[in-house]
Amino acid sequence: MKLNEMTITGLRKMLDKREIRPSEILDAVYARIEAVENKVQAYLITTKDEAYKSAKEAESAIMENRASLLTGIPVAVKDNMCTKGILTTCASKILYNFIPPYESTVTERMKTQHYLLTGKTNMDEFAMGSSTENSAYYPSKNPWDTGCVPGGSSGGSAAAVAADECIAALGSDTGGSIRQPASLCGVVGLKPTYGAVSRYGLVAFASSLDQIGPLTKTVEDTALLLKVIGGHDPKDSTSAPAEMTDFAGVIGQDIKGMRIGIPKEYFIGGLDSEVEASVKNAIKKLESLGAIPVEISLPHTEYAVATYYVIATSEASSNLARYDGVKYGFRRDGKDLLDMYMKTRAEGFGPEVKRRIMLGTFALSSGYYDAYYRKAQQVRTLLKNDFDKAFEQVDVIATPTAPTVAFRFGEKTTDPLQMYLSDIFTISINLAGVPAISLPCGFAVNGLPIGLQLIGKHFDEASVLKAAYAFEQSTEWHKRKPGL
Ligand code: GLN
Repeated sequence: MKLNEMTITGLRKMLDKREIRPSEILDAVYARIEAVENKVQAYLITTKDEAYKSAKEAESAIMENRASLLTGIPVAVKDNMCTKGILTTCASKILYNFIPPYESTVTERMKTQHYLLTGKTNMDEFAMGSSTENSAYYPSKNPWDTGCVPGGSSGGSAAAVAADECIAALGSDTGGSIRQPASLCGVVGLKPTYGAVSRYGLVAFASSLDQIGPLTKTVEDTALLLKVIGGHDPKDSTSAPAEMTDFAGVIGQDIKGMRIGIPKEYFIGGLDSEVEASVKNAIKKLESLGAIPVEISLPHTEYAVATYYVIATSEASSNLARYDGVKYGFRRDGKDLLDMYMKTRAEGFGPEVKRRIMLGTFALSSGYYDAYYRKAQQVRTLLKNDFDKAFEQVDVIATPTAPTVAFRFGEKTTDPLQMYLSDIFTISINLAGVPAISLPCGFAVNGLPIGLQLIGKHFDEASVLKAAYAFEQSTEWHKRKPGL
């Protein structure tokens, strides 16, 4: 196996035994990028010089027995996390030249361990989308079929991991943006409990929903990376005052007697039959490992997409007010201040971002606030209550991650509603604030990967990871590689 194809755990052992050097892993990663990036377009920028510099520091740390989990490990970072001195665009024209003067907490924590930043990955503009087609620069391609989307909005991160153009990556998930691309690209992706991972330095889309999480090749790597980036951060007022669990003891435990909820609302019309069959087989597999399937109901599921698109757009309209041509990035001068604002925002934002700003501004405007925003918040509580009730009966909930496998470029771009529906199974999880993972559980006849979603109680990432690891270890799906 080539070094760029390996996992964090695999490389950690070799590095610690001094069988390889961090720079050799980088050689393999950048050779791969050189070979396939023109087809995949996972990255907006690569940061080769910085990475080789970090590799030297990592090597000294290893030689001086100061190595931690990520020392010398190449990781790609979604372009909505601030990296000090390194371009951070959110795949938007409005931030085309934004170089953050500070570092996000998640990357800071990885830096402390001497990780190697491979580059900043492509995404839907401001994380709004499900395909990377909303990137202001170019779309990323699905490594399993470059005629298909990698999902989104963390499509670049998922594609980079799937194509072995990095060892692991970070993404962000507001309504499915880690899990849906993980599913479509055949990798593992986890959205942590809201508050479990710091949002400091994450460019805000919808602040009450956004969470950063790992995209990796295995469940174990996700567990390990989550431990590094997670835990309390005084710089984020919504950060939970707790340390991240150490999952080492959980990984590998058996799942005998674990109760797995199957919500009937997630096996509905519109769910692709191959996806349904794979997910049902996965549930049988979990049962054969000793888990107990329990039929449950999440009765308000049908309102989730509508609720999300009121709350997320409202928060976005407020968060994106700061891009006014004065403080950041792109600016078009005008005859007066208002004219400058209008020209800057008209040219700086893409169509989907503008659609959301308008929707959100409308939902928050006087006279409509009660009818839309307040109502959506009330439904959000009902959705959360659904999960609380379900978790009185079960330990984790199993569902498909996405209703279909990867779709073709252009297939959904003319109909925003169709695009929004690709997050139908992931959105409720953000509204409720609970954690969920997506991991490979099969392939369609056309060779495209299918994802299983496992959802847990608030701050019970441990049960999610335990079930996911048990499933992964008893299957071979995660071992397949795309034939790029
Ligand atoms: N696809 C959803 C949206 O467009 C979710 C995006 C996300 O999780 N960032 O809003």
